[in-house]
Amino acid sequence: MNELKQNEDEGRKSLNFIETFVEQDLAESKNGKRIQTRFPPEPNGYLHIGHAKAICLDFGIAQQYGGICNLRFDDTNPVKEDVEYVGSIMEDIRWLGFQWNAVYYASDYFQQLFDFAVRLIEQGKAYVDEQSAEQIANQKGTPTQPGLESPYRNRPVAENLDLFRRMQAGEFEEGRMTLRAKIDMASPNMHFRDPIIYRIIKHPHHRTGTTWKVYPMYDFAHGQSDYFEGVTHSLCTLEFEVHRPLYDYYIELLRSDDYRPRQIEFNRLNLTYTVMSKRKLLQLVKEGLVNGWDDPRMPTLCGYRRRGYTPQSIRNFVNKIGYTKYDGIIDVALLEHAVREDLNIKAPRVSAVLDPVRLILTNYPEGQVEAMEAVNNPEDPSAGTHTIAFSRELYIEREDFMEDAPKKYFRMTPGQEVRLKNAYIVRCTGCRKTPDGTIEEIYAEYDPATLSGRPDSNRKVKGTLHWVSVAHSLPAEVRLYDRLFMVENPSEEKDKDFFELLNPGSLTILTNCRVEAELKKAAPLDSFQFQRIGYFNLDPDSRDDQLIFNRTVSLKNTWSNLKDKE
Ligand code: ATP
Ligand code: MG
Repeated sequence: MNELKQNEDEGRKSLNFIETFVEQDLAESKNGKRIQTRFPPEPNGYLHIGHAKAICLDFGIAQQYGGICNLRFDDTNPVKEDVEYVGSIMEDIRWLGFQWNAVYYASDYFQQLFDFAVRLIEQGKAYVDEQSAEQIANQKGTPTQPGLESPYRNRPVAENLDLFRRMQAGEFEEGRMTLRAKIDMASPNMHFRDPIIYRIIKHPHHRTGTTWKVYPMYDFAHGQSDYFEGVTHSLCTLEFEVHRPLYDYYIELLRSDDYRPRQIEFNRLNLTYTVMSKRKLLQLVKEGLVNGWDDPRMPTLCGYRRRGYTPQSIRNFVNKIGYTKYDGIIDVALLEHAVREDLNIKAPRVSAVLDPVRLILTNYPEGQVEAMEAVNNPEDPSAGTHTIAFSRELYIEREDFMEDAPKKYFRMTPGQEVRLKNAYIVRCTGCRKTPDGTIEEIYAEYDPATLSGRPDSNRKVKGTLHWVSVAHSLPAEVRLYDRLFMVENPSEEKDKDFFELLNPGSLTILTNCRVEAELKKAAPLDSFQFQRIGYFNLDPDSRDDQLIFNRTVSLKNTWSNLKDKE
């Protein structure tokens, strides 16, 4: 038994490294034993499953240690940001099952950040540089070679103050000058080589309009925002590890008491067969390669929601993969496993035939209809039962019939008995074909003594097939989804345009399906198990006269195993 399993069995879970840090800080009474976290999305796109990992941690740590978690929009780049995204981000966090304490915006701190920048200038710790971005980049040096000092590095404080105020007054064009922290051009940490802290942007901001003409860089806004809010643990992804000394540097200059926020980094979630960058996801949407942010093939939370993933399944998945200090890529099969597990407990079982062919029970009385009892969920007795209409003419799956079948074929073939789920054992007697060999109708005889659940129905047959009644079923469209990309790690294929890596077969639309009448009652996003096929949910595009279902995930496919053996 592994250690984790053992601890779980003992009713306690081993701590991850973040929980360990938090508990150490609590033990040392840091920050008055307060625990405060934040989830800091930039409102420049919809949240994806990677964000779910951060959300579960930020909100989870606060919950676990009796602290609070705030939502902070990191809106320091007006060019990419939009209110559309603010609303969707809130909706997705709530859907995942979390509620923030308060909502903040980094833009609320623009004045405080500006004042802090002025203070740094006054202390000789910042200067206005008139060089281009390219010139500054050329002077950066390399990790082993020191950089070059800007010719503007030592201009007088008064001149810096005047220029910075005029930058904000809108006197200069974008790119004309920047404000840089004056730290150390020879530092082994490249982020200390006089990082840019303010740039000129003339684009209006979605909240502050045209008030500001200068905007703080991420590093100059994030830690300070944490400080202004009282964040104690600022959890972020590993790429910020090298920024941490700079984070601490600004906090040291800013703070006026013992309180200090602490940045802790964890590994970002990457999933196979998809991309996780908002820039790339936006490109897929803008170029019409998917049908919007909530396309069920997208790794966005709204995409998963529309596809039928439950919040619980995503939380379980995040919990299972855990938090580490090294980057990797997680097999999407693990996420699929999580949703299967959750829907197995929750989703009612219904009958649907995706590729219907008629089955006529030639000895069943014409006009007779029986209401067969179907168990809603064998995993959950409290889910009860519903009835499904049985009649002389049924639909079964075309692939459940074979005219000349091999020996171990347990489905429908002339001369062989199979059970129709929740109904009778039937023996196939033949079929009718079109001249080109397409099966048009299958014939069988039922045995009235074999009704499911009756004491005398114990006769064993090897195959059980699902079916719906021709006259009582409803037409439906079913959308089948496959991986969005053909390669495991599209972000790694640097020499290829990622569009070339898209899977052309990622969406299959079946327009000819039949589902049992019970599904008339389904509401948008309701999940079901289509027996023997997989988990499906009702798409919000569905109308009363045109039901539309999405395949969330297939069942562990016993059919393909069977086929392999045949
Ligand atoms: P992208 O590069 O896709 O735009 P981002 O990191 O810029 O992502 P933000 O909106 O800034 O996106 O992210 C908000 C929070 O979510 C940050 O704390 C960030 O570290 C975290 N986060 C983003 N992507 C992932 C991921 N794939 N796995 C875990 N956490 C993530
Ligand atoms: Mg970001």
